[in-house]
Amino acid sequence: MSSERWKISVSGIVQGVGFRPFVYRLARERALTGFVANTSGGVAIEAQGQTAQLEDFLVALRKEAPPLAQVGEIVSISMPTRQDGEFALHHSATFGPVSTLISPDVAVCALCLAEFFDPADHRFRYPFINCTNCGPRYTIVQRIPYDRPHTTMHGFVMCAACQREYDDPANRRFHAQPNCCPDCGPQLSLVAADGHTVAERDEALNEAVRRLVAGEIVAVKGIGGFHLAVDAANSQAVKCLRQRKGREAKPLAVMVADLLAARRICRLEPLEEQALGSQARPIVLATKKEGHGVAAEVAPGYDQFGLMLAYAPLHYLLLQGPVRALVMTSGNRSEEPICIENDEAVQRLAGIADCFLLHDRPIHLPCDDSVVVLQSGMIRQVRRSRGFAPKPIVLAETGGMVLGVGAELKNTVCLLKENQAFCSQHIGDLKNLEAYRVFQQSLGQLAALFEITPTLIVHDLHPQYLSSRWAKEQALPTLAVQHHHAHLAACLAENRHEGPAIGIILDGAGYGLDQTIWGGEVLLGDARGYQRFSALESLPLPGGDAAVQAPWRTALSYLHAAYGAELPDLPFLADHACGPILIMVEKGVNSPLTSSCGRLFDAVAAMSGGRQTIQYEAQAAIELMQAAGGRLDEEGFPCEVYPEDDMLKISVRSLIRAVAQAVQAGMAHSEISRRFHAGLISAFTRVAEEARCREKINTVVLSGGVFQNRLLLEGLVASLERAGFQVLRHKELPCNDGCISLGQAVIGRQALKKG
Ligand code: ZN
Ligand code: FE
Repeated sequence: MSSERWKISVSGIVQGVGFRPFVYRLARERALTGFVANTSGGVAIEAQGQTAQLEDFLVALRKEAPPLAQVGEIVSISMPTRQDGEFALHHSATFGPVSTLISPDVAVCALCLAEFFDPADHRFRYPFINCTNCGPRYTIVQRIPYDRPHTTMHGFVMCAACQREYDDPANRRFHAQPNCCPDCGPQLSLVAADGHTVAERDEALNEAVRRLVAGEIVAVKGIGGFHLAVDAANSQAVKCLRQRKGREAKPLAVMVADLLAARRICRLEPLEEQALGSQARPIVLATKKEGHGVAAEVAPGYDQFGLMLAYAPLHYLLLQGPVRALVMTSGNRSEEPICIENDEAVQRLAGIADCFLLHDRPIHLPCDDSVVVLQSGMIRQVRRSRGFAPKPIVLAETGGMVLGVGAELKNTVCLLKENQAFCSQHIGDLKNLEAYRVFQQSLGQLAALFEITPTLIVHDLHPQYLSSRWAKEQALPTLAVQHHHAHLAACLAENRHEGPAIGIILDGAGYGLDQTIWGGEVLLGDARGYQRFSALESLPLPGGDAAVQAPWRTALSYLHAAYGAELPDLPFLADHACGPILIMVEKGVNSPLTSSCGRLFDAVAAMSGGRQTIQYEAQAAIELMQAAGGRLDEEGFPCEVYPEDDMLKISVRSLIRAVAQAVQAGMAHSEISRRFHAGLISAFTRVAEEARCREKINTVVLSGGVFQNRLLLEGLVASLERAGFQVLRHKELPCNDGCISLGQAVIGRQALKKG
């Protein structure tokens, strides 16, 4: 039988994930000779043997790849045979600079857990156990290539036993960069609020559990930063946490040990269970179950819990004992980024945490827990962070290297290289200086890890945003992009759809071309450009941001717009000092115009018996949606659409009048919610049909934070699909402003192509 030699290159996430040892094993099993090595683009293999064996090898490369690998392209070409000995595994260092696709952080794997719970194992109860299939990655890498000296593990010298594992291609820990054990690796310590060490190692853990049981607030250092933990069943402890953190009502995340425990707390769909148990271990928003046993203060007025499973070995230990469920909220003050350093945490969380469960493995980059939700048939992102970043989003086209610096709130940054988009973890609210520092650090990190040198920086149209100002300080060309255009382009890019599309973009606020605040937009276009085809009427927002906190102000202003001076007599008006607000609106003082869909929800909620002031973002809208009980009404409130200023205006005033009449007629809040949602859905469907009729476009894109409203999203998708539209939604990125950086970057790339 004849022998052949093939040169095989494999791209994708194939480095630092146990891919070379896997190739080595496959080759040896098939008695092939040759070698495997890392290259700058992935992994290179030369394999020699019988044709059938080689073919089988090629199939297995893709089919049996290790869990963390994401095999992209496999290209094989035949070459002259050669005389070589056994199949060899070449060390990466001999192959020059390596551009590795760094994997996201991964929850501890089943094999490691089995060792972790085995009293006979050397790593029994060792909180830093990991292998090539699991453990921290993105949050510990400092430089490339991905090798131990370039991670935050560089200070730990492996003991002889760990080194043997690390050097043995047949071992599960072969080149597992964070490999360590109780003899040579990081350790726990428990530190009191005054900074003195109370206990170390296993005793630190035991003491932390005792304190949780006693109702204390324990700051716990994890993978991507600190959590503030309390026993989720302890009302008093949860109340105390809220009070000290200054977080009145916003739901807090709950962590349990496993799916069995999760099922006791929430009613779970199969897709939700799958997401909970996935390697990324995100927080899943899922429906509360009767008798959940979690303190009412964890998510008051909200029909879901943000639930997650343990993902660091340490979490399993915390949940082993009497505490069955932990509140695990980001270790920060309100909107600041999550703390990552020991000293920093003890300082910044002073006055909140009673004690600190620390460890000495440094975290290089902060990475919050990701949040996902089952909506419109699939798991969708709400906050894309730990476990997902920096996994690239694959684009349809290749092009120049471009940086998008994102929006002001829920900021992310995004770098494009070839056909990949590298979106950062959730960075947060850029009004905050601490977040601005993480913003700079993260974009530097992404550029370095993936060897990207952008030739263009794309920022928001708003000149005052810190990200816009940062962009202009760099010595590179810049481009300003309108916020809602970025939403449209992001959703198209994620769906690898070229467009053009009818973009229905509904959110809170974005700086408009006419310098008013946009947020209820129907744009026609693609990454090359757009036209504002339709929008909600622009109405005054008395006090600007102050109205965002007080939906009753918006309600009052919108009623004034609908009725003039003769306001209908609605119950909510009696509860507020309306005079000064009406004067502001009439005189146009500090009352910017907005077409925001978020503000429309606020106004309807406040008018019809819902929330008058809010304690966290979108609270009034969420409660209004919940009031509908998951149902829409056949008959929506009438909502007129009329031409004005070369576009179609969607009449907010007609909706407001309909709601006012319904309130006066004594219609229930729940019924008002159903008819309001149905009215909006019908109006946007009609506008999309009009756009199709004029422009012959049959694809609709839905983006903007308002689409986190499940009733609206699912109702509008159904309505548009009944009308024959192809409807595109976000899949890998959130529909909220977390997607803006991708949209900016792809728009920038098109601009580069035009030259
Ligand atoms: Zn493992
Ligand atoms: Fe937005």
